[in-house]
Amino acid sequence: MALIVQKYGGTSVADTEKIKNVARRVVATKEKGNDVVVVLSAMAGQTNHLIELAKEIQAAPDSRELDVLLSTGEQVTISLFSMAVKEMGLDAVSFLGFQVPIETDPIHGKARIIQIPPEKIRRELDKGKIVVVAGFQGITPSGSITTLGRGGSDTTAVALAVAMDADLCEIYTDVDGVYTTDPNICPKARKIDKICYEEMLEMASLGAKVLEIRSVEFAMRYGIPLHVRSSFSDSLGTMVVEEDESMENVMVSAVTYSRDEARITVSKVPDRPGIAAAIFSPISDANIVVDMIIQNTRAGDLTDMTFTVSRNDYQKAMEIVKRTAQEIGAASVAGDDTISKVSIVGVGMRNHAGVAGTMFNILARHGVNIHMISTSEIKVSCIIDEKFLELAVRALHEGFGLDAE
Ligand code: ADP
Ligand code: ASP
Ligand code: MG
Repeated sequence: MALIVQKYGGTSVADTEKIKNVARRVVATKEKGNDVVVVLSAMAGQTNHLIELAKEIQAAPDSRELDVLLSTGEQVTISLFSMAVKEMGLDAVSFLGFQVPIETDPIHGKARIIQIPPEKIRRELDKGKIVVVAGFQGITPSGSITTLGRGGSDTTAVALAVAMDADLCEIYTDVDGVYTTDPNICPKARKIDKICYEEMLEMASLGAKVLEIRSVEFAMRYGIPLHVRSSFSDSLGTMVVEEDESMENVMVSAVTYSRDEARITVSKVPDRPGIAAAIFSPISDANIVVDMIIQNTRAGDLTDMTFTVSRNDYQKAMEIVKRTAQEIGAASVAGDDTISKVSIVGVGMRNHAGVAGTMFNILARHGVNIHMISTSEIKVSCIIDEKFLELAVRALHEGFGLDAE
């Protein structure tokens, strides 16, 4: 008998028929003698719908109240799902984040899980019940409801697997596993049977939304193997595990992209110590993550600073930067929110030279202009115009020999 955590994403629970389908799978796992903890997302589209409602009231919705609103999406699915299990003759109990409790810090919309006491879930499992937990949400020590950030149900699942000392964590979604690139934009993408945490972490942080980044961080830190697979078929998916030697033979394992990027340039900044801190501290104080940064020195004692943020944070970042620019005496601030990021990922890059050059050549051959570049040991990323994104993804996928025959 094993303890298995299974997470089902929004498309897997998009309507009551799909909820019944998931319930059948969970019941089958339980009937094999396993303990099962199920984590569910909201029905597909529901979280977006709730965000739109909030924006009809407030252009920039109050972050605390937005979390109260968004957490309702998962409340719908966990209750319906528990009813479906009961209808099949087994027992289930649903819990919202605060009932477990899933304790988080107080950063609304991006909360981090601090701890999950396992006792309550354990007691229910010992009574023979299937335990159903709302993904994506938690509670602060002072009792406010939080959400973990988009795609956060993956993180709930892995954190629960850690807290419960589970034997396996399965992430069920609408694709068969992790692919060499998003199969929805590149028909020649191939399923990867086994991928290491490090590559998966880069892929997630570079936009492959099949797993949320913090879920991979948790899994890597605690050595929890993840099985990413389809809720609509029985085929084996992708195992996310520790790296082994065979993985380094492949130069580029995957192409990823992030559509929703934005770029901000502060021009003619007086070049003196403390200037980067003056620009970036207020941005990070507002919990906005800055990704790439480029500084160009001009003639005289002036410099230009260009950086990227997620498109969601663009307006807010612009307001902050315009204020700072005045304070530090910079000449102007300009921005562009029609850019995207395309990246190649692979642990094999550690042993292969010239990978970045090959990437630039492939993009050049397809007439794609590169605005910014960043590299690390196992990835190369380029900022390009959004309109070239799909072309760039397909060209790199083919150029690095990843296309399926
Ligand atoms: P869920 O609602 O189940 O959490 P998501 O939409 O968050 O599902 O994640 C699954 C989606 O991730 C797929 O439908 C696919 O479009 C996208 N995706 C992006 N990159 C990849 C990749 N490399 N492999 C598989 N899926 C990917
Ligand atoms: N429902 C949330 C979202 O759409 C969390 C998730 O699905 O993982 O982002
Ligand atoms: Mg997801």
